[in-house]
Amino acid sequence: MSAVKTIRQQIIMLLNDAEMTALELSQSLGIQEKEVYDHLPHVYRSAVARGHRLRIRPSECLKCGFVFKDRNRFTPPGRCPRCKGTYLQKPAFKIFQSK
Ligand SMILES: [Zn+2]
Repeated sequence: MSAVKTIRQQIIMLLNDAEMTALELSQSLGIQEKEVYDHLPHVYRSAVARGHRLRIRPSECLKCGFVFKDRNRFTPPGRCPRCKGTYLQKPAFKIFQSK
């Protein structure tokens, strides 16, 4: 079993239990935040293949409250299109086991 696979399995286990941001996952796993973003598309496909859902809680601007609803990506946006603010709540992820 490769180390990469182990990290992805750990991410799946963590997201089964709790909603977490990439930063929180990186801290739990002792890896870089950008590494988490590399793993997330694979985690997403694994979850879907098992009939589960990976929900992305969208980023939100902490200045004006703009919610990035249409952004269906794992990485956080750089700035708010409404107020141009850069103080953004990062997206959070959670896996749901659909029945
Ligand atoms: Zn804003």
